[in-house]
Amino acid sequence: MERAMYFLDQKDMPTHWYNIQADLPEPLPPPLHPGTKQPLGPDDLTPLFPMGLIMQEVSTERWIEIPEEVQDVYRTYRPTVLHRAYRLEKALDTPAKIFYKYEGTSQAGSHKPNTAIAQAYYNKQEGIKRMTTETGAGQWGSALAMGCVLFGVELKVYMVRISYDQKPYRRILMETWGANCVPSPSPDTKAGRDMLEKWPDCPGSLGLAISEAVEDAVTRDDTHYSLGSVLNHVLLHQTIVGEETRKQMEMADAYPDIIIGCIGGGSNFAGQFLPWIRDKINGEKPDLRIIAVEPESCPSVTRGLYAYDFGDAVGMAPIVKMYTLGHGFIPPPIHAGGLRYHGMAPIICHLHRLGLIEAVAVHQTAVFEAGVRFARTEGIVTGPEPCHDLKVTIDEALKCKESGEAKTILIAHSGHGHFDLAAYDAYLSGKLEDYAYPEEEVKKAQAAMPKV
Ligand SMILES: *Cc1c(COP(=O)(O)O)cnc(C)c1O
Repeated sequence: MERAMYFLDQKDMPTHWYNIQADLPEPLPPPLHPGTKQPLGPDDLTPLFPMGLIMQEVSTERWIEIPEEVQDVYRTYRPTVLHRAYRLEKALDTPAKIFYKYEGTSQAGSHKPNTAIAQAYYNKQEGIKRMTTETGAGQWGSALAMGCVLFGVELKVYMVRISYDQKPYRRILMETWGANCVPSPSPDTKAGRDMLEKWPDCPGSLGLAISEAVEDAVTRDDTHYSLGSVLNHVLLHQTIVGEETRKQMEMADAYPDIIIGCIGGGSNFAGQFLPWIRDKINGEKPDLRIIAVEPESCPSVTRGLYAYDFGDAVGMAPIVKMYTLGHGFIPPPIHAGGLRYHGMAPIICHLHRLGLIEAVAVHQTAVFEAGVRFARTEGIVTGPEPCHDLKVTIDEALKCKESGEAKTILIAHSGHGHFDLAAYDAYLSGKLEDYAYPEEEVKKAQAAMPKV
């Protein structure tokens, strides 16, 4: 019998997150204060985040214990299953062995609750009553809405206007979990009002929604801000995914030759590959390939500048060193809403600079073609973001077919696409378009980067 699923017992769920900062060959460039442009101290972040998360942001401790209360909520959906994609392998007629770690079985349908739950917990611990955040496609807003309601914290979500209009179901999901969700730009903040005055029909951007959520949080004492990706502590919380996968791959008697995942801000993929990259850094697995996939329409790592830039659109968030398309860049409205951020997690960028990970960009029609192929072999309707993984996985598996190599490929499958059926509909009816990389827009946005 072919074993297609690897289950980990709840008692074997990892009890610690893995902190890559303990093992980086060179430390990360420090984040800078948006006003003074000097290195940021922990005190600069206290209006935004609880101390528990601030300390994780800068920690160089290798293992950080997951609090019991967080583990208890994790156990409502974890450990998640590692699958072997036999049917896809057969359809491709490839000798490659394809595994995927599937995060779509969380209550919110993606990997995002792994950090949402932890963030709600640390805020609650420090007496915070209300949180704000931004959301693009709505996955982050819904994950945090669930995390907040389970720990009794109020939540306001600024949702990128284009997604708010295109994806009403995610707003309803957030409201069902008790959150207040408004389209961004909104009239509720100065950042939002300024934009609406200039451009009443502005489709919004993640960067602008971040500005609104940050402004809301810093202007109220009872409120903190939360970010669903990019930051070190977010990537840290996601490492539960890769730590589980390591145990499951051992059950399968397999070790990956290639790990593939999509990057929007970098959290889901980092959560999978960081627990493996330490084997590459310490020289045990020098040939391990780690491939990050991004959309051609928002190609921050493959075409962006490696430079200090603001994390948000108006320059309120910390300045970090990253690959960036410019903080004023508003990407075209592609369907993979979770991959439309102008920058990238500093940890991912740093590892790419050090030559430890690769990046490729792909077009959305090819991405959905891969998603449909996966649905018709493995059954799962994949979110548009992880469909990017599937496109590159299929390419690599077909290379194996040509060369006859039986490589082991591990996919970081970050979630289902049940709220993205309009995108599948567009693809299936031949209406999906590929967007060219808007070089001119990027040049304009990059010209406005902070001078540090
Ligand atoms: C948000 C999201 C992403 C992109 O964000 P990362 O921080 O890069 O992981 C990818 N996949 C899914 C399913 C998402 O919800």
